[in-house]
Amino acid sequence: MDGRVTEYLHPRTIALAVVVVSMTAGLLLLMSSRRNSEEPSLFTWGIANVVGSVGVFMLALRNIAPDTLSIVIANFCTITAYMLNVAGVLQFCRRRVPWGLIAMLPLIWLVLCQIPSFYGSIEARLTYISGTVIIASFAAAAVLWRLRDEPLPTRIPTVIWYCLHGCVFIVRFVVPLLNTAPAPSELQASPVVVIIMVEALVHVTMISFLLLLLIKDRAEGRYRRAAETDVLTGQPNRRAFLAEAERLVADATRWPACMLVIDVDRFKNINDTVGHAGGDAVLVTVATTIRSHLRPTDTFGRLGGEEFGALLPNTTLSTAMTVAEGLRARVAALDIAAGGTTLRTTVSIGVSVVASGKPDLDHLIDRADACLYEAKRTGRNRVVAREDGIRLAG
Ligand code: GH3
Ligand code: MG
Ligand code: MG
Repeated sequence: MDGRVTEYLHPRTIALAVVVVSMTAGLLLLMSSRRNSEEPSLFTWGIANVVGSVGVFMLALRNIAPDTLSIVIANFCTITAYMLNVAGVLQFCRRRVPWGLIAMLPLIWLVLCQIPSFYGSIEARLTYISGTVIIASFAAAAVLWRLRDEPLPTRIPTVIWYCLHGCVFIVRFVVPLLNTAPAPSELQASPVVVIIMVEALVHVTMISFLLLLLIKDRAEGRYRRAAETDVLTGQPNRRAFLAEAERLVADATRWPACMLVIDVDRFKNINDTVGHAGGDAVLVTVATTIRSHLRPTDTFGRLGGEEFGALLPNTTLSTAMTVAEGLRARVAALDIAAGGTTLRTTVSIGVSVVASGKPDLDHLIDRADACLYEAKRTGRNRVVAREDGIRLAG
């Protein structure tokens, strides 16, 4: 690397490109924040970009504008931008933002600039600024890393990017070329400044893009969950239940697997007695009771109306019958508050099993349905299971 690179890549020109990209991304983030009140991070990231853009603009005025503006205020803005970016990441991760701590690093910068030995040393100033970038980058990476429970495909690339960005500033401390601060008069001809500016340009472009993708990931997750959830009971809806059941039934390592079709008895009477809203309350209570008594590995969902399905993987028919009998007894014992009164209800359950051969979900449900029909026909509030056409219980 020699000084000639600055003939092609002029630091001030690249700085202006950073200003434009950062400002554009900032305004874009601020505009999206107006339409997305659930994500305060968008506003904070938008402000961070705008403040960063103003900071870099003032940095580019070095040797043109007074040093107070192009050094003290300019770097105050860039450090503030980095810390606001971390605040946005905390908000995105639904974590409390320690605003005092966020404000501390920019304020310490202002205080240090009042000390002549610090302010007079370009090396000391660069060390402080690099330190804040390293702290901010790794803090953002660490906070995002811990958001493991939410499926966000862009999370890991963003964590990696923050780490890479932090590492660039660590390298600055150990690579002699980058560690040599240019004299103020040579700033516009310094390859070090060019490297820093190009890195800033790539970083501001990448991080704005990644943060917008993170927001998109979250929105997609929300839509997907809404499309898979039954609005009334909060349980998986028919489509989601069947998709998951299909997956489990096709997996031979989950055999034997049993299908339970559960139907509330004489539910029409409940609606007639306590009204539709009361009937809804009964459905919610029955659904949550059944779900809470199944294993986490079991799949449960509302098939429609007052009918629910449960698929129990790695479960023999006799165990499934015991489980179904337990569910039936628990529902029958419930005192349900509905329509201003307390009532009791019962369920009938049909059980079928896939043990070997070609698994067929439709056939499995049909057989469970046939058992359910028989449970209804023979008096309700009971479990009926069949294996190879032989009735096992009633
Ligand atoms: P059976 O014991 O034979 O199952 O009788 P049933 O009355 O439970 O069955 P039927 O299929 O005759 O009636 C089901 C009723 O469930 C009819 C429908 O109005 C009611 N229903 C379906 N979905 C909902 C719902 O989301 N909320 C409420 N409150 N009622 C519903
Ligand atoms: Mg019914
Ligand atoms: Mg029914």
